[in-house]
Amino acid sequence: MSREQIYNFAAGPSVLPESALRQAQRELLDYRGSGMSVMEMSHRSPVFQEIFDGAREKLRRALSVPESHEILFLQGGATLQFAAIPMNLLAGGAADYAVTGHFARRAAAEAEKYGAVRLAYDGAPTGFDRIPAQDELKLSPDARYFYYCANNTVYGTEWQYVPEAPAPLVCDMSSDILSRPVEVSKYGLIYAGAQKNMAPAGLTVVILDRALAGRALPYTPELLRYDVMIEHGSMLNTPPCWCVYMLSLVLDWLEAQGGVGAMADLRRERAGLLYALLDESSFYTAHARPGSRSEMNVTFRTPSPELDALFVKEAAAKGLLNLKGHKAVGGLRASLYNAMPLEGARALADFMKDFEVKHRV
Ligand code: PMP
Repeated sequence: MSREQIYNFAAGPSVLPESALRQAQRELLDYRGSGMSVMEMSHRSPVFQEIFDGAREKLRRALSVPESHEILFLQGGATLQFAAIPMNLLAGGAADYAVTGHFARRAAAEAEKYGAVRLAYDGAPTGFDRIPAQDELKLSPDARYFYYCANNTVYGTEWQYVPEAPAPLVCDMSSDILSRPVEVSKYGLIYAGAQKNMAPAGLTVVILDRALAGRALPYTPELLRYDVMIEHGSMLNTPPCWCVYMLSLVLDWLEAQGGVGAMADLRRERAGLLYALLDESSFYTAHARPGSRSEMNVTFRTPSPELDALFVKEAAAKGLLNLKGHKAVGGLRASLYNAMPLEGARALADFMKDFEVKHRV
């Protein structure tokens, strides 16, 4: 199948804007008259430094990041931040974690190595099918930070409000960053792996209130220390050069689309098509409860695991790819990141209706 014949619903790495890929293709062998590919350049060269600074500035603009907050381009995926965050911010104290899904649970387990982790909420008893209300959060007065995951990629739930806590907010936005406006000043730290809404895998973005840097545990590796990375402009060692370049191209595309405001409208419309269908159907069941539903990852199932498997197979034959749910939930999952056009969601909704008619008993 060719690119024109498919829609890619993968949870990440996932679809990127075609204009960014085409620009990269045009510049692959010779970046703007430098005679070199971005892949071949010294990260210390002025031409690369310009790409790097440009990407940082574009991201600052896209999310209206205030001057109080530093933007870091790091490596190790979102997963390495599960450790870096407590090593830098917990340092033997206590922190509150809202465990609303797979990755928040892993982050909490990792943090336990570096201090006291208190469960502000645990979604496991209801199969992680919802987000807690503000008054359900158990917050401790002495917490160094309150940790949550804005969008639960695996379970398809998403926070629809910014929680309030006495401690700085620390948020994993891996699967919904740049999909809606964010008031960055409310956060101590926001982080995200790039491979959904930003760039290819290999880059992790951390947006950090500078006031929180400089409290790392003494044995924290240099590469994981926020203060050191701030001091070195994210270039203590070789950064993920190609990924940062791709981020810059994706941010050009984002700006041309109308920025995060336009992305928020689009995500509502895309996901709305699928949730309307799920709510009307007696064949499909949505995993997430209304009020907690993600507009990035729509999780659902048919009446049986066998039909789920058949759905994945028949959808793929029609060019609707990567719809299998995560093994922790089973069923089906449609990931609808920024670069997924509305037509992709329409094509999936049409397929779902046909599949239901064909297999309803
Ligand atoms: N957090 C969230 C919300 C995720 O979706 C993922 C990956 N899908 C991770 C963390 C882990 O990211 P990485 O693979 O970049 O370590």
